[in-house]
Amino acid sequence: MTTSDLHLNNCYHLFSNFLCPNCGNSYKYQASLKSHLRFECGVEKSLKCPLCPHKAKRKHHMQAHIKAVHKKIL
Ligand SMILES: [Zn+2]
Ligand SMILES: [Zn+2]
Repeated sequence: MTTSDLHLNNCYHLFSNFLCPNCGNSYKYQASLKSHLRFECGVEKSLKCPLCPHKAKRKHHMQAHIKAVHKKIL
C-alpha cells in the first residue's frame, strides 16, 4: 500500500456517506452501514403469520408456528 492509497482511503472515510440501498439511511462509516444491514435493515424482523396476528423473527419459526397452530404446511 502506498501513501497516496492511504490518503485516498482516509478521504473516502471522512467525506463519504454510506447510503443503505434498502431504506436510504446514511452512515458515516461503512462498518455502521454494514451492521445496519446485518442487524436492522436486511433482517426479516417481523414476519407476520398470514392466518393470525402472530409474528416471528425467523422464517422457520413462522413455518413451525403455522404447522403447529394452523395445521398447515407452507
Ligand atoms: Zn436500511
Ligand atoms: Zn398464525
